Amino acid sequence: MKPVLVVGAGPVGLMTALALKFYGIDFRLFEEDGSFSSDTKAGTILTRTVEAFRRYGLDRAVLQRALRLDEIGEIERATNARRASVLTQNLIDETRFPFVLNLPQHHLEPVLADALTGVADGAINLKHRLRSFEQTGDGVVARFDTPDGRCEVEGSYLLACDGGRSTVRGQLGIEVEGASLDIRYMLVDIKVDLDYSNPRDYPYLAYFADPQEWMILVRQPHCWRFLFPLAPGADEATPAELESKARHFIGDVSALEVINTVTYRVHHRIASRWRQDRVFLMGDAAHLITPMWALGLNTGVLDTLNLPWRLAWVLRGWAEDSLLDGYAREQRPLAAHGSGEMAEAARKVMGGESAAARAMSGSDWANAMTRSMLGVRLDVDGSGQWSIVKTEREALRVGDRVPDMALFDGHGGRTYVHDLCDDSFVALHFTDVRRRPHLPADLPGLRSYVVSRWDAPLDSGLREHALLDVGNRLLDRLGCAADTVVLLRPDDHVAAILPMGGTKIEELYLRILGRNQ
Ligand SMILES: Cc1cc2nc3c(=O)[nH]c(=O)nc-3n(C[C@H](O)[C@H](O)[C@H](O)COP(=O)(O)OP(=O)(O)OC[C@H]3O[C@@H](n4cnc5c(N)ncnc54)[C@H](O)[C@@H]3O)c2cc1C
Repeated sequence: MKPVLVVGAGPVGLMTALALKFYGIDFRLFEEDGSFSSDTKAGTILTRTVEAFRRYGLDRAVLQRALRLDEIGEIERATNARRASVLTQNLIDETRFPFVLNLPQHHLEPVLADALTGVADGAINLKHRLRSFEQTGDGVVARFDTPDGRCEVEGSYLLACDGGRSTVRGQLGIEVEGASLDIRYMLVDIKVDLDYSNPRDYPYLAYFADPQEWMILVRQPHCWRFLFPLAPGADEATPAELESKARHFIGDVSALEVINTVTYRVHHRIASRWRQDRVFLMGDAAHLITPMWALGLNTGVLDTLNLPWRLAWVLRGWAEDSLLDGYAREQRPLAAHGSGEMAEAARKVMGGESAAARAMSGSDWANAMTRSMLGVRLDVDGSGQWSIVKTEREALRVGDRVPDMALFDGHGGRTYVHDLCDDSFVALHFTDVRRRPHLPADLPGLRSYVVSRWDAPLDSGLREHALLDVGNRLLDRLGCAADTVVLLRPDDHVAAILPMGGTKIEELYLRILGRNQ
C-alpha cells in the first residue's frame, strides 16, 4: 500500500505523523527546513491537547518538560484587581490531566520529533520542500526539491500541514476567508525572578485587560513571557525599551534580562475548503487563528484527533471514502466560528471593547470546560449541532467528548473511558449485568461492554465484556437513563445515545462507516 504523505513538520505535521504511527499506517513526513522549528510561537497547551498526547504515547515526555497550572487569571491592569479566574480543579473528574500547560513550542517540537524515532527508514525527510503535486485515480504524486536534486514520491493521500502560507492550499487554488489584521503583537521572553526574590503571586497564566495596553503574562518553565500589542505604526522596541516596559508592567525588580523577542501579525483566516479528493488541509494551512486564549496550535491538534482514525478505517478496508468527509464537516465550523471567533472576541475584550465583552458575558466562555477545550461538541451527525462552549457538568449529548472517568475491568484492573476508545469504536451498554444482557458481536473496529454498578459474576459469560462503574458514577455524570447504549468513536466523541433494544448498534456502526446506506 502506498504511504500517506504528510507535508510540513510543525507541531501539527508531527502530531499527524505520530497519529499515523499509532494507527500503524505507513507514512512519509516531509519538511523543507533542515531541522525542526526553533521559532518562538505558542506557549500554552490546553487540556484536550494533553489528552491527544496521551493517545499518541507522549504525555509523560511532554509533562516532564512543562509547567502545569490550575488557574488562568483575569486581571484588570489598571487596578491589579482580579476578575474571576478559571480554575481547572473543576476538571478533576473529567480528565486525567486537570490542568493546562505552559511549554514553549520550540521545546515541544523536539519532544514530538523524538517520539517519532524508530519509525521506518525514509519516513522522516528533512530538507524536502514540496514543489508541486498531482492527484491520480488512486493516489497522489508529490515532487520535492532536496539538496540532492528533485525527487518524486507516490502516496495514497496527501496531508497538508505546511502552515499559514501553505503551498498545497495555493496549488489547489483554495480561497482563504477572513482577514489579516493591521495589528501586531510583541512577545518577549525575560529572565526575571518573580517567584522568590521579587514575589508577585500572579497566576502563572494571566490576562491583564486594559483599553490602553493589555498584556498577557505567562510563566514558561524557564523564564517569563510577556505578550502585548504594538501601537499601530510603532517600531519594534529596543532591548532597553523592552526592559523599561517590563519594569513598568511588573514594578521594580532586582534583575531582568531580555532573552528573546518576536513580533508577529494577527490573522483570522480560514480556508474555504479543507478537502480535495485525496488531499486534506490541517492546522494553520486550514485555519489561522488570532493568537489569544491559546487557540491556534490547540485547534490544529483537534484536527489530528479527527482525521487520522478516519484514514485508518478507510485504509484498513473497514469504511468507505465518505467517512473522510466528516473531517472537514466537523472541524471547519469549529475553527471558523468556534476558536476563530472566540479568539477574536477575547482579543477585543482585552482591549476593553464593550460589544465583545457583552457577547462573552452571560455565556460559558470563561469556565474550565470551555477554556481547556474539553467542552468541544462536534457535528457528528450532520445536524449542525456543534459547539466549543460548554457549561461545566452538563449532561452528555451526541457529539460531545466523553469524560475520561475510571472503570474497573474483569481482570481486576482500572481502565479509563478514553483507553477503551484507543483505536476502536466502543458501545457502552449501561444496564444491570446480573440480568445477562445480550451484547452484539464485536466487528472490526467495534467493541461492546456492559457497564454496571454490579460486578459481572464469573459464571455470567460477560466477565470479559463487563466494566464495573462503582456507585454509577459514570452513568450519573453522563446523565443517561438506565438501559441506554452510548456509542463512542476513536476520538472519544459520542456518535450516538440510544435506548437499548432499539436500533441495532452493529447496523448504526456500519452506517457511520458508509457500509449500510
Ligand atoms: C507568537 C505566536 C504565539 C502563539 N501562541 C500560541 C499559543 O499559546 N497556543 C496555541 O495554541 N497557538 C499559538 N500560536 C499559534 C501556533 O504557533 C500555530 O497555530 C502552530 O505553529 C501551527 O502549527 P502548524 O504545524 O499547523 O504550522 P507551522 O508551525 O507553521 O508548521 C508548518 C511547517 O511546514 C513547513 N513547510 C512549509 N511549506 C513547506 C513546503 N512547501 N514543503 C515542506 N515543508 C513546508 C514549515 O517549514 C513548517 O515547519 C501562536 C502563534 C504565534 C505566531
